[in-house]
Amino acid sequence: QISPADRMTGLPTQFFAGLVRKANAQVAKGRDVINLGQGNPDQPTPPHIVTALQEAAPNPLYHRYPPFSGFPFLKEAVAQRYKEDYNVDLDPEKEIAILFGGKTGLIELSQCLLNPGDICLVPDPGYPDYWSGVALAGGRMEYMPLTADNSFLPNYDAISTAVADQAKLMFINYPNNPTGAVAGPDFYAKTVDFAANHGVVVASDFAYGAIGFDDKPPVSFLQTPGAKEVGVEFYTLSKTYNMAGWRVGFALGNPEIISLINLIQDHYYCSLFGGIQAAAAAALTGPQQCVTDLTATYEKRRNALFGGMAKIGWDAPKPGGSFFCWLPVPKGHTSASFSDLVLEQADVVVAPGIGFGTHGEGYVRLGLLAPEARLEEAISRIGKLHLFG
Ligand code: PLP
Repeated sequence: QISPADRMTGLPTQFFAGLVRKANAQVAKGRDVINLGQGNPDQPTPPHIVTALQEAAPNPLYHRYPPFSGFPFLKEAVAQRYKEDYNVDLDPEKEIAILFGGKTGLIELSQCLLNPGDICLVPDPGYPDYWSGVALAGGRMEYMPLTADNSFLPNYDAISTAVADQAKLMFINYPNNPTGAVAGPDFYAKTVDFAANHGVVVASDFAYGAIGFDDKPPVSFLQTPGAKEVGVEFYTLSKTYNMAGWRVGFALGNPEIISLINLIQDHYYCSLFGGIQAAAAAALTGPQQCVTDLTATYEKRRNALFGGMAKIGWDAPKPGGSFFCWLPVPKGHTSASFSDLVLEQADVVVAPGIGFGTHGEGYVRLGLLAPEARLEEAISRIGKLHLFG
């Protein structure tokens, strides 16, 4: 009989595991399932990045343990990209940590900052990995509701002074998963004020930073005056360059926090394979047309999906960024009952909003992760169930 540590009991089972199981059961029946439920980019990594890995792999320098905190050339490449894209200056050695994907850093940050019982403010609905880190650290979550009437931004005025003063850490995430909402400089300025006034560290999750629609490129939290004093930003190559399987991410900003993240990583890992670091640098310093094309592809897909929705009477605001659409479920349904119905009767996988928090109830999340024709097909199949209008 294995007796797990207490810290394990607070860990939820991975939310998407259940979704994948249900979808697979449908595929096993021989059905043509359209899976829009997960956040896994469907397009390949641009060829010049793959070539950079092929060229780097034989280099014996990369076959040994890499430097603990990664190769300086990769940190310099990130600093250069942030300067070009956001006009943000970062000291490559002191203000940038290399991560195994953004996910590891998001989870480690809670372990770096929270003592058992400390409060962490998390968005609801929100990306479930924030909860995992807080649970592992024994922290306490206070939820910041994201609702349509406040453009899916947290309302700092609604947080009691007692909670704000006890909070040590907060997560924000724009462009947002799951709502597709974007944030502007005003919101980030309010965030810096709130954090400075209450002594809260801000973790800005910028995983979808490259994906903004309607000619409005997303703004980085680090562009806000004072941001580096109060927090860090998490940046990843997973979505920007279709490199989710490569596991390359970064934490950027406050040097004290970066040094804590590097310290915890020194104990867990010994940085990424050097060949992957070389390819990651090639992604960041090479031609950026692939990023422009990627955003344009998601925007076309979004428009195709919403075109289909208009035909069946499914009404919702379009996302301003990310590759997610946050859509209300029809009357008489919960997010789970609607998701089950469309899987069973239309062979379409969508993610029930309740999986992202209690304020996710009433919505489902659809990923723009299939070609336009498949997205239109998915909506047309849902239309045949006559649930809208
Ligand atoms: N943050 C958000 C909001 C995400 O949706 C994801 C991935 O789906 C991540 C972070 C983590 O990305 P990665 O670990 O691939 O860098």
